[in-house]
Amino acid sequence: MLEVADALAEVLARVRPLRPGTQRLSTAVLGRVLAEDIRADADSPPFPKSLRDGYAVRATDCASRHAELRVVSEIAAGVVPTTPIHAGECARIFTGAPIPEGADAVVMQEDTRSVNEKRVQITDERVKPGQWVFARGTEMRAGEVVLATGTVLNPAALGVLAGLGIVEAKLFLAPRAFVLPTGNELVEPGQPLKPGQIRNSNGPMLAAQVVRAGGVATQKGIAPDTVEQLLELIGNELDGSDVLLLAGGVSVGKYDLVPAVLEELGVAIHFRQVRLKPGKPLLFGTKGNTLVFGLPGNPVSAAVCFELFVRPALRVLAGHANPGPVTTMLPLEESIAEVNDRPTYRPAKLELGAAGYSVRPLPWLGAPDLRGLQRADALLVLPPGETRLDAGMLANVILLPE
Ligand code: AMP
Ligand code: MG
Repeated sequence: MLEVADALAEVLARVRPLRPGTQRLSTAVLGRVLAEDIRADADSPPFPKSLRDGYAVRATDCASRHAELRVVSEIAAGVVPTTPIHAGECARIFTGAPIPEGADAVVMQEDTRSVNEKRVQITDERVKPGQWVFARGTEMRAGEVVLATGTVLNPAALGVLAGLGIVEAKLFLAPRAFVLPTGNELVEPGQPLKPGQIRNSNGPMLAAQVVRAGGVATQKGIAPDTVEQLLELIGNELDGSDVLLLAGGVSVGKYDLVPAVLEELGVAIHFRQVRLKPGKPLLFGTKGNTLVFGLPGNPVSAAVCFELFVRPALRVLAGHANPGPVTTMLPLEESIAEVNDRPTYRPAKLELGAAGYSVRPLPWLGAPDLRGLQRADALLVLPPGETRLDAGMLANVILLPE
């Protein structure tokens, strides 16, 4: 049986970023990845600007004790200064306003005393040239690559692009994932439950995980455990999706029909089982460029397998350089003593104390206990065999995205 790391490597070996497309920039592209280098078309700031409310001065004029200067103009942000500053002169200036010709520093208001409308005393005797001036081109130079291919569009990046006057850019396309829960026992939320039935938790959960991973999710209901309907429902989506996410029906029971159906549809199956808990029955296949994941039906197994294998694949498709998952080591808030037959990924909660983050295992009843997973923002990774870790000892942790 494949180990988790080998299975992830098998998946990632078959994933390439989707082609780029030109997109209008808006909050809708938050988290997407740039597929082109963005260059500055001009210096920024385009003119030397004041970083403080105060007076634009010649630094040499302020060297004497209680230097008094003549105020020859007032410059607000958005105004072009027209009066140059000569010896003994200054301009009233405000944050963001252009520095007038002749001035080389700004003295902030707090370091001055107004004598009258036309005169100001400088109480700071150590005015340095360039003080409180954001020189032209300090932030970026014309022609310089400001955001490189691969940059993730976080809020600051969207601000930088807006600052450059850019309204559209080439971005890697967001992966489209089709989510199909399978099982005769499943009914949609909102429908009455008959005896023996349960509601479809996996569909909404997996679709949300897709969106959280930067993908676009579509759902068209539940597939019953019949070969004909599985053939039709899966067959219809194989071409149009980047990722097919099936949940349930991948194990070895009589009603676990998904593997055979996929084979009949021409999907090349690369693995069917991975050594982990919760999980184990986890199928990965490809047809053309479409990735097919058959996740276990138990909701926590499905969720964990998604974070370990599907999310990294979606991230690569979306152009991210780092597929994750994000792993680290953190001290335990409480001791653990358990025996596991496989590497185990256990719901856990991060706690932030004075000494930084620590991790606390959450009460958890196993693969069907989605409520137990709901509180988790991390997974504790425990090796197979006996694990005995005291509080304060370091444990392997996977950070779940928010
Ligand atoms: P399976 O992998 O199809 O054998 O399903 C394993 C367990 O997960 C069974 O108890 C199923 O009833 C349950 N299950 C399967 N699909 C879902 C779903 N969409 N939502 C909630 N539970 C499910
Ligand atoms: Mg089933």
